[in-house]
Amino acid sequence: MIYDSIVIGKGPAGIQAALYMKRANLNILVIGKDGGSLEKADKIENFYGQENVISGKDLVEKGITQIKKLGVEVITDEVVSIEFIENEDSNAKFDFIFKVKTLKAEYVSKTVLISTGVNRKTPLIAGIKEFEGKGVSYCAICDGFFYRDKEVAVIGNGNYAISEVEALLPVTNKITVLTNGKSELLMRDKDIKCNPKEISSVEGDKKVEKIVFKDNTEMYVSGIFIAEGSASSVDFARKLGAEIHNNSIIVNDKDMQTSVDGLFAAGDCTGGEIYQISKAVYEGMKAGLGIVKYIKSNK
Ligand SMILES: Cc1cc2nc3c(=O)[nH]c(=O)nc-3n(C[C@H](O)[C@H](O)[C@H](O)COP(=O)(O)OP(=O)(O)OC[C@H]3O[C@@H](n4cnc5c(N)ncnc54)[C@H](O)[C@@H]3O)c2cc1C
Repeated sequence: MIYDSIVIGKGPAGIQAALYMKRANLNILVIGKDGGSLEKADKIENFYGQENVISGKDLVEKGITQIKKLGVEVITDEVVSIEFIENEDSNAKFDFIFKVKTLKAEYVSKTVLISTGVNRKTPLIAGIKEFEGKGVSYCAICDGFFYRDKEVAVIGNGNYAISEVEALLPVTNKITVLTNGKSELLMRDKDIKCNPKEISSVEGDKKVEKIVFKDNTEMYVSGIFIAEGSASSVDFARKLGAEIHNNSIIVNDKDMQTSVDGLFAAGDCTGGEIYQISKAVYEGMKAGLGIVKYIKSNK
């Protein structure tokens, strides 16, 4: 089945967008891995209609219950990649559709809304920032091509790191996963090495040359791919070719569409000066209505 839209994120931005889309009769799916930033908020006292203090966790649950009551399918799962695929239905209006891959399954849709909040995790390792774009990359699909048969490292210890390794395998199998002091990753491909040593620094001259570990041993690499935690909004957007500025996704103010046709973004992931529920809800509403218009005008 091809969904009209897949919403990634079940925080205020994603839920509000889903509400508007469902009411306009779109066929949608919401995927979220947890309660996002809001779940971490102890008390919410500054949101419309909340006369009593409410915990962030309870507010997240209220939003999800509300759209489930409307009949929206909400699943708990982690999205690891989004890509374009050709639509096999030659009579369909949409030549290309989105394939959204999670830990458990794959789904396809005509549009995608990224509402995954902010969770960019740049490891606090000396040299990482300095060598961004000079051997340090955040996107295996975008930059892996430059490392054909070269020695590379992937820093991370979760499913996102595994998906980055899989994206690199067609260009090189000289890959080492560095978990930087965290427990070792079980790689599906047995030839991939995994090194749990703690990293001290990334060093080089004009480009990355080596990784130095805290025990003073070294490893020579041409490229380093950062894949800590889960794939973030910026990772998804970057891989699809959407414009990004200062780690935020650039959107059209009118309908929250990114620079990529059919790809929308809302909430904390679009940046700005305000990171609040009201802003996320406002942008979710605009994105929801924008997607409704987009789908209806392409029917
Ligand atoms: C400690 C704290 C206190 C706060 N207090 C307040 C307050 O009092 N008032 C206020 O207005 N705002 C407050 N905020 C800010 C507010 O929580 C955020 O601005 C708001 O939640 C942003 O909504 P969002 O939907 O953009 O992102 P989030 O609420 O962060 O939701 C992101 C969603 O994306 C999902 N997700 C992320 N990556 C993936 C993936 N790879 N696959 C699947 N799902 C994914 C997450 O699981 C989550 O469901 C607080 C934030 C924090 C951290």
